[in-house]
Amino acid sequence: MEHKRDSLLEDIRAYFPWFQSFREGQEAVIRAVLSGRDVFAVMPTGSGKSVCYQYPAMKLPGITLVVSPLIALMQDQVGHLREDGICAACLNSAVTSRERQRIMQAVDAGKCKLLYVSPERLASLEFIRFARREDLSLLVVDEAHCISLWGYDFRPDYLRIQEFLDQVGKRPAIAAFTATASMYVKDDVRETLGLTDIFCVDTGHRRENLRLSVRSYKTDGRKRQHLYRYLKNHADQAGIIYCATTETVDDLYQCLNDRACPAARYHGKLSADDRKENMQAFMSGQKKVMVATNAFGMGVNKEDIRYVIHFHMAKDLESYWQEIGRAGRDGKSTECILYYAPQDEDLFRKMLGQKRTESLQRLDSEAADFLFRAGMKRFRAMAEYAREGAGADSGTLQERVSDHLSGYPGENETERELLEEGVRIRQSIREKQRDIRELYTNETKMAQQIRKGCYVPGVNEEIRIDRKNGAPLVHTFCLSNRLDYFDMMVADAVYTLYFLGKTKIYIKNILELLSGDPSATLKPERGAAGEEKQDKRTMFAQSLERMALTEIYINRKRGPFGSIFADEKEQTELRGPFLPIRKEGKNGYRITDTPPLYRYAELTDSQFYKIPGSWLSVRNEKAVKMPNSIENLKLRHFLARRIRLIVRHCTQEKMGWKPRIRLQQGEREQPGMYEILGLEFPDDLYRKKRKREALEKKICTILEYYMRRRMYGASGYKFYEDEYTGGEEGNISLGIQFFL
Ligand code: ADP
Repeated sequence: MEHKRDSLLEDIRAYFPWFQSFREGQEAVIRAVLSGRDVFAVMPTGSGKSVCYQYPAMKLPGITLVVSPLIALMQDQVGHLREDGICAACLNSAVTSRERQRIMQAVDAGKCKLLYVSPERLASLEFIRFARREDLSLLVVDEAHCISLWGYDFRPDYLRIQEFLDQVGKRPAIAAFTATASMYVKDDVRETLGLTDIFCVDTGHRRENLRLSVRSYKTDGRKRQHLYRYLKNHADQAGIIYCATTETVDDLYQCLNDRACPAARYHGKLSADDRKENMQAFMSGQKKVMVATNAFGMGVNKEDIRYVIHFHMAKDLESYWQEIGRAGRDGKSTECILYYAPQDEDLFRKMLGQKRTESLQRLDSEAADFLFRAGMKRFRAMAEYAREGAGADSGTLQERVSDHLSGYPGENETERELLEEGVRIRQSIREKQRDIRELYTNETKMAQQIRKGCYVPGVNEEIRIDRKNGAPLVHTFCLSNRLDYFDMMVADAVYTLYFLGKTKIYIKNILELLSGDPSATLKPERGAAGEEKQDKRTMFAQSLERMALTEIYINRKRGPFGSIFADEKEQTELRGPFLPIRKEGKNGYRITDTPPLYRYAELTDSQFYKIPGSWLSVRNEKAVKMPNSIENLKLRHFLARRIRLIVRHCTQEKMGWKPRIRLQQGEREQPGMYEILGLEFPDDLYRKKRKREALEKKICTILEYYMRRRMYGASGYKFYEDEYTGGEEGNISLGIQFFL
């Protein structure tokens, strides 16, 4: 064993010459990762977690992906690795597309085995394709507590890591690392990542060099007095002051600078440039003090932070531990002071209440309530610590934090209940997100595919079946104001949400939906020269307003069957706002009426069957064909309706005609089977197996979505393929049969 240990040490040093002897936990974790097991390691900040996956990454046959929450963190790690002569790279939004190609080529060529990515990258189709062709040995989730911290909030991609692996069709070993994991977080991470046969290491939450203390004050004024005195006595040392609100940060920042105490500040309301600049001033030592909200800190790799003062409590003990964990990385004695005033508790309760209102915009009330209760419960532990901790010595306080973080919920009934409820609710949040995403992306893709497949001149025409007297119906969609692709995309998202039953829509919902679609570009086409850069929310709000002001006419001329619409007057011309919405409340928009385009797709079956998809075209006032995006939008909704209606029609045994989308009962060998969707593709384009498989997969996703919702009376389906006999020679028909 000793010998083996020495040789492992030597080998690690061959890659990382600075590596001395194993620190607590390192050897066990490295061996477990090398053996291919899933690993969950909880080790304090500065204890050397990185090398626990970086070394195995060099030894394992395939590549290692490291999911990391922050660009700065990735760049820092890659920089250090390069200093050690190890090739590593990161892919994030700061990397240009040319650079991205170069990196992927380097990985393809086996020159680079370690790749840092943001969780959002895992949703990119390009990246999924890339990962499919690579040999994946290990997936690391660094700062794994972010899954619980942000996954349910503004970074839902943290919940989709498993989904990414499913799409890639591989399951490498997974290793999760964090400095803070309560029982709840551990459970969440384990479940979200689908860890099995886990090797767990928890080296505890004690940091001997951190001197913890709590100071109780009646007023903020008293806190300030102590703070100013403290900073004066420690003017040559670097430190962080954490506040709960941006207002307090701004205020303290001002006061300190007025008092000739050069401080930097950091919070989410500052521009990205300001944040970067301020961070730089602090990191370089130009400013000794950083006043910040909890937005600051992750990835701050500054060795000599000598104190952390919490002007307010943190939102829970987990966050508190993270925040003070940034200090004293050099191992030298470091002061962590927490100010407590009873009224601060109200401040946090209020903030949690606000957060609940915000989460109601994304989640159903059960889930929002749950997150609120869980947040409250965690905050109560924090408040208790602060209330009772005043005057206690550092050892006692460390023990208390450590007990809380490592504690098992066995004896604690409410904790266990919360945990059990959490499993169920997290599951439902994840499912809902997945559904929305699948519906959204796949419908779009499918519509494109179908369009490609169906609208081939010469193949298509003859499918305008049964047109006895040949006069085509012309459906003209007129948009009286110019909307660009960005608007269409936003409209698309609104329709999708509407389709899913949401009548009040928040910008946040749209953003979330569009962020889940790797093909969506979240910025308008215009606004290049001179226009000020705007945040996404403003752009979305403007887009919604533009659409509300835009009129749409849908004009359907009488066709060979007579009017296809029940009420002729009402139906021959639809006219109204492109998006009938009204602002309601601060950020919400109420859909006041079915959008005309959507109403068009809401026809009854008998009307419906008289409209072949190929007759639809979108033209502007000058009869010029509109860009594909609109067509896409229209088709997407049509398709959804079509599938549903066809099945309804089919089960009622009302056979209409045989358009491209066919409906035939009992024609195939197996009785009781229905072919509901026959997609026909020209041979040369679609025969290729892979393409067809990809298409089938997309179709499956959408069909399963509807199946889960019991929108068809079917219990299963399968694809079949045959030579298309009625049309061009060599066409193949991809059919879907439903089992009832
Ligand atoms: P963490 O990710 O746990 O916060 P890091 O992996 O960044 O910690 O390691 C902190 C520092 O300790 C780094 O500078 C790293 O090079 C160093 N380090 C880690 N393990 C060892 C070791 N066994 N011997 C010497 N230095 C180490």
